[in-house]
Amino acid sequence: MSIETIVIIGAGQAGASAILELRANGYIGKIILVGDEVHLPYERPPLSKDVILKPEETKVEILSVQKLAELGVEVIRGNAAVKIDADTHQLILKNGEVLGYDKLLLATGGAPRRLPDLDALGKHVYTLRNLEDSQALVPVLQSERRIILVGGGVIGLELASSARSKHCHVTVIEMGPMVMGRCSPRLLSEFLLAQHRQAGIDIRLETRITGCSLQGEEVVIQLENGEELRADAVIYGVGIIPNVRLAVEAGLDVDFAVKVNENCQTSNPDIYAAGDVATQLRADGQYSRVETWENANQQAGIFARHVMGIEHPKANPAWFWTDQLGINFQFVGDMSAAEWHVRGTMDISQGPASSFILYGVSNGIIVAGITVNAAKDMRHLKKMISKGIAFHADTHLDLAQELRKIA
Ligand code: FAD
Ligand code: NAP
Repeated sequence: MSIETIVIIGAGQAGASAILELRANGYIGKIILVGDEVHLPYERPPLSKDVILKPEETKVEILSVQKLAELGVEVIRGNAAVKIDADTHQLILKNGEVLGYDKLLLATGGAPRRLPDLDALGKHVYTLRNLEDSQALVPVLQSERRIILVGGGVIGLELASSARSKHCHVTVIEMGPMVMGRCSPRLLSEFLLAQHRQAGIDIRLETRITGCSLQGEEVVIQLENGEELRADAVIYGVGIIPNVRLAVEAGLDVDFAVKVNENCQTSNPDIYAAGDVATQLRADGQYSRVETWENANQQAGIFARHVMGIEHPKANPAWFWTDQLGINFQFVGDMSAAEWHVRGTMDISQGPASSFILYGVSNGIIVAGITVNAAKDMRHLKKMISKGIAFHADTHLDLAQELRKIA
């Protein structure tokens, strides 16, 4: 069957990447991009960092009007997809427009998990997912303001770092025993915690909020231990909920996220899903969802190649980065590795001058790596993991041995 029309729902990272991948892999048919935001596709990573710190000079757009025109893409923005009719291969938009498709990509991302008690306060409470959310934080994060961040995940820590560099008084409230506990091993989490505390950020672990109220222009937060914290603003980042409503109503297989096979196909072979909304079948037979920029791009590539009947290369080990307190952290591979070994010096007192590498090792094999202000070494770690090489402390931890020679 010839494919004449591909419709992409969601003008975000996966949606934009899918357009580039389709054209790069030789697709010449019609592409329609449907986005509920008014913007053209843009990058989210700068939203917690440079959009707040350097709003004037930060560009986030992925595809300009000219580029989309060159690529021959019909763009519909500010108009959500509201229903998929899988039997007739039609998509219905909020304004009533109906689009036919041969293949459909769900790239709808996720939305912040809500904390209704905080939302009920009505003002001085914020979350962060889109460009408007980020721009709204610029006037909030002013010098000497008291800011409470609920959630010590990536959003919480990146915003803590941004708020601190704007000279705010920052408190982070994390329910769990570790910061960035979902994506970082304990050793690095402890390093992050110490760095943040050293930078003057008050981080409370294993701390639960039992109540909140507005008193004048102050937000008052009650903690389980009876303590009361007061702030000018509260920002929370306690994870995301994938935007699956369209998929559920279309009868697709959904288990919290949209289930896709190794080709990013959903339970309907003409409908694919990629990015934060998808949970993918992995080589070990388990489904897993990865909420990263690179995963959105990779799955978009898998979708495009599968539609074009092109075999996709073996998946790279998962990679992501975060920038906090002037330090660049990059993570690759399996963060649940059994042991971690430090190459270099892991010394808190060095602050933003810190630079070292961690190897994650399971059953004697290097399965993961982390670079701290050592981005140029990441490619060597990726190579070691892809090759599945054995870890030898005397070689791998010896700074006299060049990484590129032992990778
Ligand atoms: P998104 O980029 O969220 O795009 C989904 C789009 O679909 C949105 O525009 C949404 O409005 C739209 N949509 C939803 N429903 C509909 C509908 N019914 N009709 C039409 N459109 C719809 N990852 C990293 O690896 N490193 C980082 O440093 C990093 N920093 C981040 C900072 C922030 C503040 C955030 C929020 C995320 C960050 N990420 C980072 C994660 C990364 O940005 C996401 O994993 C990535 O954007 C996921 O891409 P996506 O296309 O699945 O979703
Ligand atoms: P996250 O990384 O999942 O972290 C949420 C954190 O909040 C977890 O540590 C969680 O603890 C904690 N938490 C949950 N409920 C809480 C509560 N009631 N009180 C206090 N803490 C609570 O999610 P996020 O930071 O909100 O990030 C949202 C999305 O943005 C994710 O998709 C993330 O990947 C993306 N993002 C990525 C980057 C990056 O990769 N550099 C940067 C920013 C944002 P438990 O784990 O114990 O539940």
